[in-house]
Amino acid sequence: MEKTEKINSLKVAEKQVDRAAARLHLDPGVAEKIKQTRRELTVHLPVKMDDGSIKMFTGYRIQHNTTRGPAKGGIRYHPDVDLDEVKALAMWMTWKCAVVNIPFGGAKGGVQCDPRSMSLHELENMTRRYIWEIAFMIGPDQDIPAPDVHTNPQVMAWIMDTYSTIKGYSVPGVVTGKPLELGGSLGRMEATGKGVFTVAGEAARHLNMSINGARVVIQGCGNVGGTAAQYFDRAGAKVIGISDYQGGIYNPKGLNVAEALNCRNQYSCFITRKGPGWEEITNQELLQLDCDILVPAAIENQITDKNAPRIKAKLIVEGANGPTIPEADDILKDRGILIVPDILANAGGVTVSYFEWVQNLQELLWNEEEISDRLIRIMKKSFAEVWQLSQKEKIDMRTAALMLGIGRVAEATRLRGIYP
Ligand code: NAD
Repeated sequence: MEKTEKINSLKVAEKQVDRAAARLHLDPGVAEKIKQTRRELTVHLPVKMDDGSIKMFTGYRIQHNTTRGPAKGGIRYHPDVDLDEVKALAMWMTWKCAVVNIPFGGAKGGVQCDPRSMSLHELENMTRRYIWEIAFMIGPDQDIPAPDVHTNPQVMAWIMDTYSTIKGYSVPGVVTGKPLELGGSLGRMEATGKGVFTVAGEAARHLNMSINGARVVIQGCGNVGGTAAQYFDRAGAKVIGISDYQGGIYNPKGLNVAEALNCRNQYSCFITRKGPGWEEITNQELLQLDCDILVPAAIENQITDKNAPRIKAKLIVEGANGPTIPEADDILKDRGILIVPDILANAGGVTVSYFEWVQNLQELLWNEEEISDRLIRIMKKSFAEVWQLSQKEKIDMRTAALMLGIGRVAEATRLRGIYP
């Protein structure tokens, strides 16, 4: 993917809070408190590599807020991971859990690394050392990690095993997104993509747009983007563009999604392999394709004031966290483009993570239908609450979602009081 100037995600997240806090008329002290991170840990990890050398990696675990419950948030492996990025991602988790009203606070973790250039064995060594370093601050009652970019159920299994080994007994509730064999939940793998698809349907209804036949463009084809693509495809939408970190593929008549995802699974990227009717495009070109629905589902800061004037989608549904910067929000709002914001649109993942945690703690097993029904009910209810607030206050959906989430955290803070 082509590199643009690095935007500081924490500044973006703080600006969003300022906008919502002003509308909520929050006490300045409370606003400042909930903007701040509760705890931040930086660790330096020595890892034995396959060639016998020892390499140092830097990792982070941030607990942004625990007022409404234990901290919850994924772990990211990516070369761009840094303290501010993880702090921003942790803050967005706090608002997200509050928007869908599940009893969690927000956290995030990450290790700065390039997982694509590491062997499975090296990734396992790094994961285990990282978890050993942060073990004192995680646990089912205090902070529960989950998958994020370039981490998956196998990484979650190593996390559970390392933490359980330290404790001396199995603790499945320490992490969500685990393999089913280790207490993972049915429906977790597809939860975020399914949630994205569900709220896209709700938003499309308000725009009198049919999903059947809609032209959809998706940036990122991992857990979120790849799953969302399958749901759109099954519902009769035409996925005309999809990408990975190296670039994208485009077919105005609609891509064969199954073939594209097979290619991704086999070769881990698209553009080195030419599929039927595939035109190769950059990630920037992909974002500006003529389409009905755009789903950014890769990383932050992709939609900026530079490309927002050229975005042609009528509806943007944010699968990724923080894909749009505030300056782009303003441009897109003026251009009448509806955005379903990340803290609502991609909340399906943390919602089913919550179901997984509940099942682990209570030693229950829910079936797929039960999980899917509960997920869809929560996503539709949350969408309706944010939509109604945006209509009532005449504001965009991001500000409405932030007002809802931040408002709930502020009220919880008021009720608990400031100790001592
Ligand atoms: P993933 O690792 O499964 O997939 C990431 C995708 O993004 C891949 O296709 C990768 O090639 C692409 N990508 C990576 N770096 C890129 C770059 N610089 N430019 C363009 N594309 C790039 O990750 P995921 O779990 O699908 O997460 C994607 C986004 O969704 C992230 O923002 C994550 O925080 C967010 N999210 C994930 C979940 C979840 O349950 N996995 C939940 C909520 C939000």
